[in-house]
Amino acid sequence: MAILGATGSIGLAAAEVCLQHADELEVVALSARSVSDRLIGLIGRLRPSALALTDSLDAGETVHALFPQLELQAGEGSLLWLAQREDVDLLLVAVVGIAGLQPTLAALKWGKTVALATKEALVAAGPLILKALEEGGGQLIPVDSEHSAIFQCLQGQEKHSLRRILLTASGGPFRGWTEDQLEKVTVEQALAHPTWRMGPKITVDSATLLNKGLEVIEAHYLFDLPPERIEIVIHPQSIVHSLVEFQDGALLAQLSLPDMRLPIQYALLYPRRLPSLVAPLDLTQIGRLDFHRPDLERFPALRLAYTALERGGAAPAVLSAADEVAVQLFLDRRIGFMEIIPLVEQVLAKYEQNTLPRASQLQSPFAAAGSLEAILAADHWAQQKAGEIAVLLKRSPIKG
Ligand code: NDP
Ligand code: MG
Repeated sequence: MAILGATGSIGLAAAEVCLQHADELEVVALSARSVSDRLIGLIGRLRPSALALTDSLDAGETVHALFPQLELQAGEGSLLWLAQREDVDLLLVAVVGIAGLQPTLAALKWGKTVALATKEALVAAGPLILKALEEGGGQLIPVDSEHSAIFQCLQGQEKHSLRRILLTASGGPFRGWTEDQLEKVTVEQALAHPTWRMGPKITVDSATLLNKGLEVIEAHYLFDLPPERIEIVIHPQSIVHSLVEFQDGALLAQLSLPDMRLPIQYALLYPRRLPSLVAPLDLTQIGRLDFHRPDLERFPALRLAYTALERGGAAPAVLSAADEVAVQLFLDRRIGFMEIIPLVEQVLAKYEQNTLPRASQLQSPFAAAGSLEAILAADHWAQQKAGEIAVLLKRSPIKG
């Protein structure tokens, strides 16, 4: 197998799973943006034969001196090189953002199994990914904990017996905060998620709740359900990872402590269940499980995601791309926490204003979203537009 995004939160958890099941999973390739001590440590433990560095080969010589046998490639195309290698049957995609799209498409077209953590790829190009899956005859297995839970609950069930799914959301660190408090949220506060330890982009997305919005779109494609049959339920303890409701009214859920090693292992060893490093769940210690309806007024990100899904075409790609930029601007302290979602909303509104008159222009972001080129054009347009709108805000850096 290959791990794309090996030095991230998912990548490192996956490496632990692979080391525990070394007789089942052989890691032959890794990717990271650049060389770090973390990466060197991983190469030492996993001993892959190939490494992709997406940013540059500058520090590649260090790696080469330490591991002379390692095949190296650099630049954006290097992820595709890994995805297409003959010695890779199983690809774990765990980079951040649209960078995960092309390797996912390539692996699926070659009939490989893709364990997908990078939800942005599915959000931006769901129909293209499903087409590649069908054409290549490979497998697509979700890693995101909610989607893994649903996927687990659906095993052995007939498709038409499914009535709807309930996606659980912790509600993030700011559940119950007032408007005033939300205005002053700092980067540090947004990065302190109450139940999960994750990379910075998804942690901020969880705080704005757009993560849950992206997950609704992800679920729509993975489980072939219309938006009205995907419901969000706030569940602060993050023990019930999602639920499935069947036609007879029965609900099935998957429960465990919040530990990504479980859904990662399930995806990598699917359909087998082997012992894992995840601590057993003692329900008597948890004591209670709470469920609430989400507050769409206070967290408009959910509504925005449903809107993008209903608009279809490249709207979800635009939503996701604008969010990538907005979150980075917040992490760079150039916009405030409460400006993230309005910025995304403005980009989506601009897209909608333009979408009708120019719908016939091929290669434009407003063309039908049926090709990779159209999706990448939409992504590029939305990233640029988000940057422009942010400049118009004429903000000086915000401290915090
Ligand atoms: P991290 O930020 O922790 O790690 C990202 C990894 O991808 C690192 O290896 C990083 O390399 C690499 N990377 C980042 N940006 C790029 C890029 N543009 N091109 C190529 N490589 C890149 O992220 P997470 O592990 O938290 O998340 C990864 C994906 O999984 C995201 O899409 C997220 O939404 C999804 N996910 C994560 C969950 C979690 O618990 N963390 C749960 C569910 C889904 P380097 O270290 O060199 O910077
Ligand atoms: Mg999730």
